[in-house]
Amino acid sequence: MRKPIIAGNWKMYKTISEAIEFANEIKHDCDTENVEVVICAPFTIIKDLKNALEGTNVKIGAQNFHYEDEGAFTGEISAKMLREVGAEYVIVGHSERRQYFNETDETVNLKVKKALSESLTPIICVGESLEQRDSGITEKIVTDQIKAAFSTVSPEEAIKTVIAYEPIWAIGTGKTATSAQANEVCLEIREELLKIYGEETSEKIRIQYGGSVKPGNIKEIMSQSDIDGALVGGASLVAEDYLKLIKF
Ligand code: PEP
Repeated sequence: MRKPIIAGNWKMYKTISEAIEFANEIKHDCDTENVEVVICAPFTIIKDLKNALEGTNVKIGAQNFHYEDEGAFTGEISAKMLREVGAEYVIVGHSERRQYFNETDETVNLKVKKALSESLTPIICVGESLEQRDSGITEKIVTDQIKAAFSTVSPEEAIKTVIAYEPIWAIGTGKTATSAQANEVCLEIREELLKIYGEETSEKIRIQYGGSVKPGNIKEIMSQSDIDGALVGGASLVAEDYLKLIKF
């Protein structure tokens, strides 16, 4: 039985005071039964948000990091630094990072391995563009991203990861993949994991859907056989909506 995981991706939104205000709005009402609940926040907020949500089941994650331990990498941040401020999750390979910051399948794989070695749970994003979907190559694009991300990752480590299937055309656009479209690709991802790791391991890895998830559509999305959670951008920034999402 895979435990559902709902994660907010706050992107480059919220100052410390705004994050604390959000925490105060949700903290007496955010207990969920059998749902893992995460907020992936900007670096500067992580520590204060963690403190503000102390005593709740909300875990804090980051949205990116560098795969090296340390070094002359101006502007970068390491997995150890994230752990030190209390992050337990980190998004890896979000399409915005692939598109604007040169994230590649190779760096995604390096980050997955480094996150795991530092006991950070990587939320590994994969997904196709609208052009790729229209050309009928969604399955190839997504399974190639999965193969690359999990290259030389052991089955014991693989089960600690979370995958987020996020069709690029559905992120921040208001266009949601239908639940059937989303589940179809999540099934293809699980079949690829089955080829790589066998049944026992592939059945344990959680796959989220992401792309314009809102309080109004999360129930339908979460009812699908191979969707184990959601990675939510815009709607996760509003306390009232976040509470509805985690209590889907
Ligand atoms: C995201 O940022 O990963 C995302 C899915 O955004 P949104 O929910 O706003 O589409």
